[in-house]
Amino acid sequence: MLQLENLEKSLKYYFGYENFRIGQRKIIEEVLSNRDVLIIMPTGGGKSLCFQLPALLKPGLMIVVSPLISLMQDQVDALRDNGIGATFLNSSISIQEVRSRENEILSGKIKLLYLAPERLVSEKFTPFLQLIADKVGISAFAIDEAHCISEWGHDFRQEYRQLKQIRTNYPQVPILALTATATKRVQKDIIQQLAFKNPYIHLASFNRPNLYYEVKLKSSRPYSQLLKLVRNQKGSGIIYCLSRKSTEEIASSLQKDGISALPYHGAMTDQTRAINQTRFIRDDVQIIVATIAFGMGINKPDVRFVIHYDLPRNIEGYYQESGRAGRDGENSNCILLYSYGDLKKISYFINQKHNKKEQLIARDQLTKMLEYAESTSCRRIVQLGYFGEKFSGNCGNCDNCLNPKPIEDWTIEAQKFLSCIARTKERFGMKQIIDILRGSRSKKIYQYGHHLLSTYAIGRDKTADQWKCLGRSLIYQNLLNETTDGYRILKLNSKSWEILRKKRTVKIAVNKTSVDKILDDYNPKIMEIEMLLEILKKLRKKLADQENIAPYVIFGDSTLKLMAQLQPKNLKDLNKLSGVNDYKLEKYGDSFISEIRAFCQEQELPLAVPQKTQMKTLQLYQQGLSVKEIAQQRNFKVNTIISHISELIELNQPIDINKFVSPTKKEKIIKAINKLGDKSLKTLKEDLGENYSYNEIKLVRAWCRRS
Ligand code: ADP
Ligand code: ZN
Repeated sequence: MLQLENLEKSLKYYFGYENFRIGQRKIIEEVLSNRDVLIIMPTGGGKSLCFQLPALLKPGLMIVVSPLISLMQDQVDALRDNGIGATFLNSSISIQEVRSRENEILSGKIKLLYLAPERLVSEKFTPFLQLIADKVGISAFAIDEAHCISEWGHDFRQEYRQLKQIRTNYPQVPILALTATATKRVQKDIIQQLAFKNPYIHLASFNRPNLYYEVKLKSSRPYSQLLKLVRNQKGSGIIYCLSRKSTEEIASSLQKDGISALPYHGAMTDQTRAINQTRFIRDDVQIIVATIAFGMGINKPDVRFVIHYDLPRNIEGYYQESGRAGRDGENSNCILLYSYGDLKKISYFINQKHNKKEQLIARDQLTKMLEYAESTSCRRIVQLGYFGEKFSGNCGNCDNCLNPKPIEDWTIEAQKFLSCIARTKERFGMKQIIDILRGSRSKKIYQYGHHLLSTYAIGRDKTADQWKCLGRSLIYQNLLNETTDGYRILKLNSKSWEILRKKRTVKIAVNKTSVDKILDDYNPKIMEIEMLLEILKKLRKKLADQENIAPYVIFGDSTLKLMAQLQPKNLKDLNKLSGVNDYKLEKYGDSFISEIRAFCQEQELPLAVPQKTQMKTLQLYQQGLSVKEIAQQRNFKVNTIISHISELIELNQPIDINKFVSPTKKEKIIKAINKLGDKSLKTLKEDLGENYSYNEIKLVRAWCRRS
């Protein structure tokens, strides 16, 4: 039996990690002492390791029950790439292959066997299972996604119900149940169904500290808002939409805007879906635009952002979907966009439900979701509160904590707003009230004689959006009612009257205009790290393609980041990094070391360093902005940006000249430069003629001059 003190050594040896995550060590100790274990941890908490390491340390074979075929393949790939004996049996493999894997299992070379639940409990499999028990022994059963066992969970599966027979047939073999979603009810069910004896229960916090949460109101041009958001993100991302149609539309718009994106939804053929999913996992495409059909069974650890383009229906769904970001523990962004149109759409779906009770529940969930979106306090308070967890706030990693919205006294404005509702006899919706306040000349105003009201045009000092913000805030603070039966009419309640009678004040949170952060945090060291990181990612992708595996299987983002930061120049130093074990060191060490060395040598050359302003242009260029867009964003002339780009090219910065000048033109300009020298742009321009612009000549000249 292995010494417990050596657990850290085994962790490094098998997985390359330096330390256990919270809870992992204790769980592993319990598993090693043959106790039944129930593990409830959020996505990315590191559940797999809790059975994978014991599987390697205990004699016999660990049998892992997993509901999804695609997941088995991924997990087995990752284990094998750590040099660990793992395999799976499912319907996707041929009979010969099954035989050969069975032989491998019985020879004792395999430590982890992944199975679908229906296979494990099938009569056909029973004799082989007994053979395993007799010949190599079963170290434990690990049941992944264990909530599927409960009818109270959101993913009940009949096959999971039959799993209790493994307890009857192998009473002495310990069982681990793992899940990321479990209410008290589901927990009890799992324990009962699997007949756990004195189990060790690990219930982790559902807080995911590495995720940044932000909520934004959709602008009147939501797609450009989305595009801008996406351009500010790095790495892989998921964009969730409500409808299938919009997934297709947005994916194709993004493609047109030069961003690699593919759609994913339930109405596509299985084959197309599988292809798009694989391309996403393998980093062939940066973004997947999907309905909520996408996600179950994706365990890509390096999803760097999840954007919800529409309001989700409930907080639990939002938590799960946004939670697909940052499983590897690296910082990732979860951004939610919503509008009142979304609310209408979802309400419409809810009204389609026949069952009154379901309708009620769905409405209640939607209200909670809105409360989350509208909340001005720490996002985690609302989110974790939904799971019954108390969070004291001030997480420091959500929009409300980082940019608290100033609270202002808007009592006078509220009085204007409410009195306008009173004067129109509580028969109109938000838009008409705002039109009156802002003195609109619409037909509907004259039709009802609203231009004659004393409140007409008394609110021109505020924009329509500001009034809307006030109106909504009144509704959410319960200071005003809005009917929900089709027409949304504003109705005064007793609190509204208190405001009108000056017995109550109104405070609302006002949105500040966001400042462009990126432009302010220029730092040459960070730029260098990012440049090297990009190079290492390219190498990782190349190696992954050669082996036909996902890039993250080779090294996770966190490991690559460490390489870029610490720049190890030999195998010994590389081996010290978290995520690098002996097996990987031997397999990939040389490739990564030589790339890092080459990069460092280049950095040591006495290169002229670009100025700060050029670097800002470069950053925006790397985010995919066009010259025109950069000029707009920076408030410069297009020609100035072209000058920056020429200077950057001259300093050998990563800019592709072919994006600016066609190869044939480039060739002609080079010829002219060779003939006439590069001193005078004017001379070159006169020689080349009308078809060549000064900018083109300037860019190519820079390209010829580059160091
Ligand atoms: P879960 O199944 O709970 O969603 P995983 O088991 O997939 O989470 O683990 C999430 C990520 O965390 C994986 O990339 C895994 O390799 C990594 N990980 C797990 N344990 C550790 C650890 N002790 N140190 C560093 N990374 C870890
Ligand atoms: Zn917060």
